[in-house]
Amino acid sequence: MRRTAHTTLLAACILLTATVSAATQSTRADGLGLLGIAWSDPTPFLHGLIAAEQTPSAARIAAGASLYQVRMTIAGGLSRTSIEMEIAFTNLEDEPLDEAVLRVFPPIVGGAVAISDSRVDGHPVDAVLDPVDGRLTLPLPASLLPRARAVLRLVAQIEVPPAPAEHYGILEYTSDAVSLAHVLPTLAVHDAQGWHADRPPAYGDVTHADAAFFVVEVVAPAGIRLIASGVETAQEIGAEIQTRSFAVGPAREFYVTATADLEVMTEVVGEVTINSFAPSSLSGSAAQALTTAVAAVQIYSSLYGPYPYRELDIVASPIRAGGMEFPGLVLIGLAEYGKPPDPSEEPVDFFELAVAHEVGHQWFYNVVGNDQLGEPWLDESLTQFATWRYFEARYGDVGDLGFASWTSGRLIVLPTPAPAIGMPVSSYSQSTYGATIYALGPRFLKQLEQLLGREALDDALRAYATDYRWGLGTTAAIRGSLETACQCDLTLPFAQWVYAN
Ligand SMILES: [Zn+2]
Repeated sequence: MRRTAHTTLLAACILLTATVSAATQSTRADGLGLLGIAWSDPTPFLHGLIAAEQTPSAARIAAGASLYQVRMTIAGGLSRTSIEMEIAFTNLEDEPLDEAVLRVFPPIVGGAVAISDSRVDGHPVDAVLDPVDGRLTLPLPASLLPRARAVLRLVAQIEVPPAPAEHYGILEYTSDAVSLAHVLPTLAVHDAQGWHADRPPAYGDVTHADAAFFVVEVVAPAGIRLIASGVETAQEIGAEIQTRSFAVGPAREFYVTATADLEVMTEVVGEVTINSFAPSSLSGSAAQALTTAVAAVQIYSSLYGPYPYRELDIVASPIRAGGMEFPGLVLIGLAEYGKPPDPSEEPVDFFELAVAHEVGHQWFYNVVGNDQLGEPWLDESLTQFATWRYFEARYGDVGDLGFASWTSGRLIVLPTPAPAIGMPVSSYSQSTYGATIYALGPRFLKQLEQLLGREALDDALRAYATDYRWGLGTTAAIRGSLETACQCDLTLPFAQWVYAN
């Protein structure tokens, strides 16, 4: 989600059921990973999950979901981060794999990376890093058979940029804070087409990942606050250094920020603790963010299934965007805090919209994943439609019409005929991307509501969110959910709105 000086643009903002075969084994006889935690042990993740999510999550681990154990050290005046990591990777395809491909984001989002050690099952391998596309290829010494597991080990040094032009500063350090978005090398998605590791454009989002499990031990200077995806599972605080462990999963990725001078206010809703972090001078906006997030979690949970984690963090951040989503944590642009709403400029309060939107991504991006480069409408347009439902649920017709009016204000930049909403990020210019995906996309869903009826549309989105919970949604999948719900053929509306000619 993004706002510019001229207009408000929003621009960035399987179930696995088989049992593990006998071929599955770790490099260490005891089956322990880098942090001394057994790969098969779901316990670190259960603390952070609501009760209903715990048994299915343990089953995903047993079925071979990827597991990450990471030691991350933040140093160099916050400008350098070193990473030592192991990934337990199970081949869930039907064919042997000769290589594993990871996406390495720092060069894409303005930083740099050097890999100093790479091993598979303890044996050194020649990793090939393509820093332009952010692609790291590890040869698998013996073809990895279906259901077999390999442990991938990497040591990497990350240079964090001070003020990058790319991606809104989500990977950035300042004198007293560092935002470490997309800092871990992450397994690319593999399917019948092979590995998906395309280079993302400099705008839009970069994530396309299977749901995985992360335990990350963060070593940082003492006295700075660490806020991360998931829940804190251990801590050791020294005079100079603090070490804190975080666990999150299922999740698409792991995010952490280290920052000084943020206060926290907290509210508990059901099993979920929601934290709003902001400078103490902006406590009014921090309270508004908390109220919005509490309402949003309740509204989206009733529409699309429960929020999966016990914690959700809303963090004020100097990013140059309205907001940005990560698993269990969202950033909201600091520039949006402390601004009184201006109805003459915005029919709905943009700060509230930003918080409601980023919270909505917990369902469309994280719980239901998708290719954010290839089919960005699946996360952004659906999240915007959820946000529309939020405004309607909270403010009735005023909220409904206000959000409609907000989308109208963005559509004026689009040519006639308007672009299709179902194209890759790279098919749009930055301005047509924002207007098409964030304004036209939710209007397509509103159009479907008139065509199908409100109940059928809500049933379809709930079925999509349930059937693809922790899987990867596609345009074909959501069309299938819609056609099942309405018992109708949507060839025409999809041809008119979604597919590129
Ligand atoms: Zn978004």
